[in-house]
Amino acid sequence: MRFNALDKLEIIKIFFVHLHASNIKKREMDILKERILKDGKCLPGGILKVDSFVNHQMDPNLLKKEAIEFIRLFSDTKITKILTIEASGIAPSIIVGLLLDLPVVFAKKKTPSTMDNMYRTKIHSFTKQRDYNVVIAKEYLSPDDRVLFIDDFLAYGNAAKGIADICQQAGAELVGMGFIIEKAFQHGREVLENMGIRVESLAIVDSLDNCEIKLR
Ligand code: 5GP
Repeated sequence: MRFNALDKLEIIKIFFVHLHASNIKKREMDILKERILKDGKCLPGGILKVDSFVNHQMDPNLLKKEAIEFIRLFSDTKITKILTIEASGIAPSIIVGLLLDLPVVFAKKKTPSTMDNMYRTKIHSFTKQRDYNVVIAKEYLSPDDRVLFIDDFLAYGNAAKGIADICQQAGAELVGMGFIIEKAFQHGREVLENMGIRVESLAIVDSLDNCEIKLR
């Protein structure tokens, strides 16, 4: 296979991103954990509010560190596409996609009138206590794809199960799922691992009992 000068530059760039990611200390994610303890607020029903750095205001510097950690964790896998769900999964996914030079596709919660050929699945939202459909246009997911799914939270695993279903419909291979925050007490990991899905999380909340954030 022959590469032109631009290809070579891209290959060198990707090599350095991987090198940086594999050298990064696991301790980097202590910054995320400190931030959760400092700025996270617990709401009734086992909900963690992190609006000041994940779900509303965002911290691009922290997002970059998180993206590098995702790349380190999945450095042994070949990925062709990053998948996420709007809205909060988009920011971390874009940075992973940027660093790995890969396309990012987000599942849409409203079907655009311009979309006529799509994969669709139903997801139950426990934060909103309702079901909703998400769609991905068929042209953006194919059996050639090796997919990494990135999202902000893993709770019961319903959103992730929906994405797994869409990948199955498309015949795409799901190589793993990465979450910024996993709430272990809601057991989404067990659900996904029982489906044979590899799960990696950057911070794990063991309990929000009595509104005290207990991290692993
Ligand atoms: P699951 O589908 O795993 O039950 O929940 C994951 C989805 O619900 C995530 O995409 C996230 O948007 C939302 N979510 C679940 N738990 C929380 C939470 O504690 N805080 C926030 N902000 N969102 C959550």
